[in-house]
Amino acid sequence: MKGRKLLMIPGPIEFEPEVLQAMGMATTSHVAPDFIEVFGNSLELMREVWKSPMGQPFIVAGTGTLAMDMAISNLIEHGDRVLIISSGYFGKRFEDISKRYGANTTILEAPLGEVVSLDSIEKELKTNQYKALTITHVDTSTGILVNPKPIADLAKKYNTLSVLDGVCSVAGEEINQDEWGIDVVLTGSQKAIGVPPGLALLIASQKAMEVWENRKTPVCNYYADWNNWLPIMNAYEERRPSYFGTPAVNLIVALESSLKIICKEGMDKRVKRHRGLAMAFRTAIASLNLKLLPKTNEIAANTLTAVYYPKGIDGTALLSKIANDNVIVAGGLLAEIKTSYFRIGHMGSVSSNDLISVLAVLERALLDLGHQMIAGKSLQTFQNELLKPD
Ligand code: PMP
Repeated sequence: MKGRKLLMIPGPIEFEPEVLQAMGMATTSHVAPDFIEVFGNSLELMREVWKSPMGQPFIVAGTGTLAMDMAISNLIEHGDRVLIISSGYFGKRFEDISKRYGANTTILEAPLGEVVSLDSIEKELKTNQYKALTITHVDTSTGILVNPKPIADLAKKYNTLSVLDGVCSVAGEEINQDEWGIDVVLTGSQKAIGVPPGLALLIASQKAMEVWENRKTPVCNYYADWNNWLPIMNAYEERRPSYFGTPAVNLIVALESSLKIICKEGMDKRVKRHRGLAMAFRTAIASLNLKLLPKTNEIAANTLTAVYYPKGIDGTALLSKIANDNVIVAGGLLAEIKTSYFRIGHMGSVSSNDLISVLAVLERALLDLGHQMIAGKSLQTFQNELLKPD
């Protein structure tokens, strides 16, 4: 009995063995020529994944939250207006961060399982001049997917910067940063980028960099200040040694390895794989008489699925049965409904085999707890969905 565990939470995810091997290399100096090359390559590869040939990438030791903090602290000054478009827990985090830097915030919160309407966003942008708006591409707490493109169009129309939290979407969902004109797209390493936790990654547009350069007041966060990091990113890209804070050497070696895997697959194919698997998985889940948190398929994320526990089933017992079968899924996160749903991550190198395992284990646990369903139904549904021609 190998007792291998399958990690199916919405980050950290299962990492490619090649990436983990890269991470396990003997740590080198952050100014060693071969590491400078790795860092420079990683910055260049990020532009391919984000589809932002013109953007300014940043790789900094920290988590996704630091990337959010970096975007807001560099772009926002005391008294600036920020419009927060929220579809869950992580939308609200942008509100907290913006307030910390003295922003005057307005939050538009979607009803549970829905997205904020474009009309209400436009109405707000018409009423007040906002310096920036924030979008959570996939809110990991609700499994809701927002289409950033029309919101970015509105931001441009009203001369507002757009900041996209892509922590649960970059390298999994469709993103065209430059074409869509999004000013910052940010993420953390541990999700669809496929690298163990510990890197904050973001790309800022030329416009965002100009706004930052023309600030009237200093950035109120020493570590996150682009004044400290831009010269470092420039140096690595020009293959020169430099130092501000010691980079996470091993994580960056792993990042280059994972970005190469992603670019080899190609972003278009990768997005299609995520969509295909996610759609089949949602259909399979629904075939077990389970209800999804997003109200429609169009706004359901392709990187994770949030599912309500069926009536009469004890959520804690269900998750513990699944865990005893060596599959790790996540409980609820949104405070209001924390104990009434669970979440399954399916991003990065996820395969149909992984999802078959989740369904098999989930079915056994549900049957064991007395849920009314036909044994094998979700497996059959999943297979049929995958066998459908494109
Ligand atoms: N935004 C979203 C959408 C997330 O899913 C997360 C992490 N789950 C974060 C921000 C924060 O990232 P981290 O935990 O790496 O700080």
